[in-house]
Formats: sequence, structure tokens, C-alpha cells
Amino acid sequence: MNSDMPLSIKLKKRASLLELSWSEGDVDQISEQNLRRYCACSGCRAKKQVGVELMTDNASVTDMVLMGTTGVQIKFSDGHDRGIYPWGYLRAIAKGEGEVFLND
Ligand SMILES: [Zn+2]
Repeated sequence: MNSDMPLSIKLKKRASLLELSWSEGDVDQISEQNLRRYCACSGCRAKKQVGVELMTDNASVTDMVLMGTTGVQIKFSDGHDRGIYPWGYLRAIAKGEGEVFLND
């Protein structure tokens, strides 16, 4: 799996977007709501499996913590902080393929 780190990772609060720039030159943007929706921690995955919608309407990112070179932990305004997002997963979410990535 391609685990290359992004060149930069920027939270654009005004636009409610996370922007990732990659070494290939492309840029991905993911809304804060989508980040919350695609949280892949065991608790959120279990909820999605039984069809429970995650609260995403007011979800904003309050903090990000780099997890070495593998990805980033994202904390949300609803108090949820268990989501860890590997770089490949963020790319998949940006392409609308978050579900595919999880089911791989
Ligand atoms: Zn979660």
C-alpha cells in the first residue's frame, strides 16, 4: 500500500476543509463532516454496520495529531477522538471510496 506522507496537511477552518498536498502534485480536499462520517474506529464502524448514522452535521476538527509517518489522529468537536486516518484512507475518502478502502 502506498503510505507516502503528504507534503502538507492544512485545516482550512473557514471552508471547513482538510487539504492534503501529495508529492505527485495533486491536492485532495475533504470536508470536516466527511472526515467525521468516515471515522474508522471500532465504535463508529460498529454503528455503521447496524445502520446508525453518525452525528456529522456540526462536526468540526478541533485537533490533529500526527501518528508517525502512517497517518493522523483527528479529534472532533463532538468530543470524539478515536479516529485514526492512514494516508491511504484519506486519499480514498477524497475520491469517494472510503467504504471500498474499509472493505478491502
Ligand atoms: Zn470513531
